[in-house]
Amino acid sequence: MEPTKILLGEEAIPKFWYNILADLPWPLPPALHPKTRSILSPDDLAELFPESLVEQEMSHERFIEIPDEVLEAYRMWRPTPLHRAYRLERSLDTPAKIYYKYEGGNPSGSHKLNTALPQAYFNRLEGIKKLTTETGAGQWGSALSLACSLFDLECRVFMVRISYDQKPYRRILMETWGATCIPSPSQTTQAGRNALQQDPETPGTLGLAISEAIEEALARSDTHYALGSVLNHVLLHQTVIGLEAKAQLASIGVMPDVIVGCVGGGSNFAGLALPFVPEKLSGQKVKMVCVEPIATPSLTKGTYTYDYADTAGLTPLLKMHTLGKDFVPPKVHAGGLRYHGMAPIVSLLYDKGLLEAEAVEQQEAFSAAVIFARTEGVVPAPESAHALRVAINEAMLAKEEGKSKAIILNLSGHGYLDLSAYDAYLKGQIPSKQEA
Ligand SMILES: *Cc1c(COP(=O)(O)O)cnc(C)c1O
Repeated sequence: MEPTKILLGEEAIPKFWYNILADLPWPLPPALHPKTRSILSPDDLAELFPESLVEQEMSHERFIEIPDEVLEAYRMWRPTPLHRAYRLERSLDTPAKIYYKYEGGNPSGSHKLNTALPQAYFNRLEGIKKLTTETGAGQWGSALSLACSLFDLECRVFMVRISYDQKPYRRILMETWGATCIPSPSQTTQAGRNALQQDPETPGTLGLAISEAIEEALARSDTHYALGSVLNHVLLHQTVIGLEAKAQLASIGVMPDVIVGCVGGGSNFAGLALPFVPEKLSGQKVKMVCVEPIATPSLTKGTYTYDYADTAGLTPLLKMHTLGKDFVPPKVHAGGLRYHGMAPIVSLLYDKGLLEAEAVEQQEAFSAAVIFARTEGVVPAPESAHALRVAINEAMLAKEEGKSKAIILNLSGHGYLDLSAYDAYLKGQIPSKQEA
């Protein structure tokens, strides 16, 4: 008797990324030049990104090959496990089946390494020596620091001031991997100096840190900029999550009824959900929910319009759901979700009604995360906790309706460097109603 072939280990890592732009029935509104407002050409991006990433940003090819060097780096932790949360299900007494794709199991602790590696690789391939970037909570900065270390690049990270102060361990992690970490706003750039002059006490924003990193990259020809979310090529790289999950679910004969992910710029949600969009477009019923914090409700409260990705207005204009580039989000613990805009691809799909969005209170997110930690063990990143809250709500709804359904959520990262946030929650120091 032939045993059923089950793919394990590196055979299960996708060899291609999936490009949703090949399958969308609607055109994605193009990015516009920040000054002239004409449609952006590949040349306009050449100062910031290597040619190969610019090509990916604008490509309409369905599958884009993952280079061997990147695959080899992915082998450090991919394929990632798809767990069924049996203990969580039991504690909720729900007929729903809850699956989670765990992206926190790599050395940097979040899904961001999926795109940091190819970004570092393609820059190195084209002779770039140094990358600049921004980081909110520090997950992107640490992922890029590790990727730069593996592909032999220098790395300079502008870290949002509030996180720099609240999360010293991520700075230490970045420095351990050889990067330089600068609190933003800083005195080293014009954008930073302007912001400090306006408000010396500002907690900083992701949008402002992006301005600083771009300003520095533009000033040197051997230096490029790397963005951890929002852009098409970032979402593309993250599709390894959904491609793996799809194969893993197929191997046990499951098609999800609900797909859930938290959204900051939209990349981990998109990474899980986009590979399932063709099925949805061809009529399969699957609910896809983006979960954002009440403090930065870019989908549920923002407008769908052209806006800058940064505060100083240096980036191209992107058509997206946005709260406005000058929006300063409240100091929530889920630093990775403190962003004014949303990926153009996620924004378009939401605008067309293909995706749904929910905004969640910080305290509700932590209460879900603690239930999860006490049943499944893993302490989730505060960002991922938002997705968990909605997954648990969906499971409770299934119980009320007396129906079984398959829920899959992206556990985008672990929370072991966010324990002070858990401490605050456990001590009752996180208010239940936030002023957004
Ligand atoms: C950065 C981050 C997010 C938010 O970014 P997306 O691009 O929306 O995925 C969510 N979860 C974790 C763990 C993060 O590090």
